[in-house]
Amino acid sequence: MSFWFAKSAKTFKPKKNIPEGTHQYDLMKHAAATLGSGNLRLAVMLPEGEDLNEWIAVNTVDFFNQINMLYGTITEFCTPENCPVMSAGPKYEYHWADGKTVKKPIKCSAPKYVDYLMNWVQEQLDDETMFPSKVGIRFPKDFLQSAKVILKRLFRVYAHVYHQHFPHIVSLGEEAHLNTSFKHFIYFVQEFGLIEKRELAPLQDLIDRLTNKDSSRS
Ligand code: ZN
Repeated sequence: MSFWFAKSAKTFKPKKNIPEGTHQYDLMKHAAATLGSGNLRLAVMLPEGEDLNEWIAVNTVDFFNQINMLYGTITEFCTPENCPVMSAGPKYEYHWADGKTVKKPIKCSAPKYVDYLMNWVQEQLDDETMFPSKVGIRFPKDFLQSAKVILKRLFRVYAHVYHQHFPHIVSLGEEAHLNTSFKHFIYFVQEFGLIEKRELAPLQDLIDRLTNKDSSRS
């Protein structure tokens, strides 16, 4: 959860808040408490009796906020000059398309791509028909499919940050935050099979390292 980032107030986009007093707020609190226990595998599991869509929604909002803050710390380094394309190492390059308003992929700089991406995610998180926050409003039938696309695209920000900005993250003393946030993200998507393996390829070595370390210890 976002408590790791309490010291850095700067975010890239406005933080998405889950309204206090709602069930989702309680779920978010629950997630924060289990995360605090340090067992990430356990922390990502669907709490007993809870709705899977709601659990995925709350966590997706949280990952958006975490990535928003992490990216916010490196915006001064991620410029059109330094990052003329949205890449994740030499082998992976992303062009922006959302499949709706932008159908033909746009080749653009990384900051522009991340801007498109985060705006696109934010619009969906703010759409009550897609991400209902009030009790009694049903999630749409295609919710899981939409969440998968959001998470697949959010992964690309982690991939870009790791490949192109890790030294900057280190210079800011944020690497432990980044690693914990990313590990949480990976455990979450693994638990529910939310991102296809080929999409994770740009960070596969890191994923193996972060997740193996845990299984050998427990
Ligand atoms: Zn960059």
